Amino acid sequence: MTVAHALVDLECPHCQQTFVENAALVRPWGTAWCSECGRSFHLDPNAEATARMLQAAKAARRERRQRVGDFRSLLNEPVPRLARADSQRLMGDVLSTLDGLLERLDNLHRRHS
Ligand SMILES: [Zn+2]
Repeated sequence: MTVAHALVDLECPHCQQTFVENAALVRPWGTAWCSECGRSFHLDPNAEATARMLQAAKAARRERRQRVGDFRSLLNEPVPRLARADSQRLMGDVLSTLDGLLERLDNLHRRHS
């Protein structure tokens, strides 16, 4: 789950390549830099092609806000405390998994030395 960035696909009017941009940077009357050809273009909301990209960027930002909101409420949910028996069993599982990994590592070392 990515919450860090809202991303949007932009199509460069110079080279017609599509590249990914941070939606936070894609604003009406702003400038976008094409990562394919290195040229810039204006994000004119009155031009059909750029209006579509601006709409997509807006939608991506809205989705990101939603995801961040979900993530925050997830963090705020109380974590149920494990019953003592459960936590002992969990610790037992962790230790035996660790044992297994260390054993495999040992075997690998033995085979290579
Ligand atoms: Zn380009």
